[in-house]
Amino acid sequence: MIQNLLRSLPSVDELLREPELQSLYRNFSSRIVKDSVRKTLNLLREEILSGRLKNLSRRDVLSRIREDLEGLFTRGLKPVVNASGTVIHTHLGRAPLAQDAVDALMRASGGPVSLEIELEDGSRGERDSHCEELIVRLTGCESACIVNNNAAAVLLTLNSLARGREVIISRGELIEIGGSFRLPEIMERSGCILKEVGTTNRTHLHDYMDAIGDNTALLLKVHKSNYTIRGFTKEVSLSELVALGRSRGIPVVEDLGSGSLVDLSRYGLKKEPVVSESIREGVDVVTFSADKLLGGPQAGIIAGKREFVERIRQNPLKRALRVDKLTISALEATLKLYLNPEGLEKKLPILRYLTRPVEEIEENARRIKHILSARLGRGFRIEVEEGTSVVGSGALPDYLLPTRVITITHPGMGAERIFKHFLHSNPPVLGRVERERFILDARTIEPTHIEHIGPLTHG
Ligand SMILES: *Cc1c(COP(=O)(O)O)cnc(C)c1O
Repeated sequence: MIQNLLRSLPSVDELLREPELQSLYRNFSSRIVKDSVRKTLNLLREEILSGRLKNLSRRDVLSRIREDLEGLFTRGLKPVVNASGTVIHTHLGRAPLAQDAVDALMRASGGPVSLEIELEDGSRGERDSHCEELIVRLTGCESACIVNNNAAAVLLTLNSLARGREVIISRGELIEIGGSFRLPEIMERSGCILKEVGTTNRTHLHDYMDAIGDNTALLLKVHKSNYTIRGFTKEVSLSELVALGRSRGIPVVEDLGSGSLVDLSRYGLKKEPVVSESIREGVDVVTFSADKLLGGPQAGIIAGKREFVERIRQNPLKRALRVDKLTISALEATLKLYLNPEGLEKKLPILRYLTRPVEEIEENARRIKHILSARLGRGFRIEVEEGTSVVGSGALPDYLLPTRVITITHPGMGAERIFKHFLHSNPPVLGRVERERFILDARTIEPTHIEHIGPLTHG
């Protein structure tokens, strides 16, 4: 029977002549089609040999080829509805951009822009200058430059200022961020020598003092962005480190992680370190992400004293880590919103989601419940309940925002199955499973997002 099935497989040439596949040549070159035919035949052969495939018509073979090729168009990056309860979700691309940033991105993407040209006289310009002026005004730093992300910002800063020399850091700040950003490894790759001081829970100023030697290049402070250390603790403040650095002639660098441009407590949230405060305290260089609390595109910002930022800019690695016109256009438009933070919570989606009043979330949840009740089909229990959202992406760890969630359960269906149904709908909706129940956080959903959820039937 296996032999018969194998013999029934058409040859590559036969399939290539098949009239039914001719329409594929509109979107695919003959080489791509041929590769797909070969690949599909190999897969079918394997399935037959393993006994998984028990019968096969020519029609099945053709539709498998068609699915393989059409999948190249339909798979890939898709807009997703974030109902996960993690507001800045790294796996969903972090901050959604403000409309101004989207518009700027669209304008910049389709044609030439004044990226590195002075429109005054046509002379050579600097790509970072567009954002630099804004960062200077917003944070009080002397100079700034932009790289791909904050990991790159830390790498470039350390490599520029401390290659072959020692960087002193507290053992309580040797962080790991998701996606394999581990500070000790980044330090090693940047060519500097890690000199850990203190203990996990307690580091004193004299620990830093005692560690300073002839080969010390930097004192590094890293924001504990995704964890907290509680209990019997002691941490040296940035201003103490700055005073120590000044007295010994050693620059102080701070990796702020999320680095907010405004004090979030003015919007009723918990305060996260503000870049301008670090600058005011006298830090020499500070690095932070543009796509976390700042709400912009993926980028890393290096801000600080001119002398140091200039050395960082001159590093040949900067060329390898530089950002393109798309990032610059979106970042510039996002930064402009901060020039007047009045009403920022209406313009910046991240801030809008984080500050959304719970009454509004509740009303939203009820609307969503109503839509889902009509769409999901029979037997579902859909309730609005109290829940909590988190900020995510290494900002404000252990800070929970009260929210409303829609719980969806069915007596004959597991939560995982409902989770997948939402994920496979169009657009995909990412909820979460908590205590074996499927839930959607209404904080970051708009009712129009879920109007197309299809019915889910039992079985
Ligand atoms: C998030 C974070 C990073 C990495 O930033 P990316 O923008 O993700 O590259 C580095 N350091 C700290 C403290 C962070 O919170």
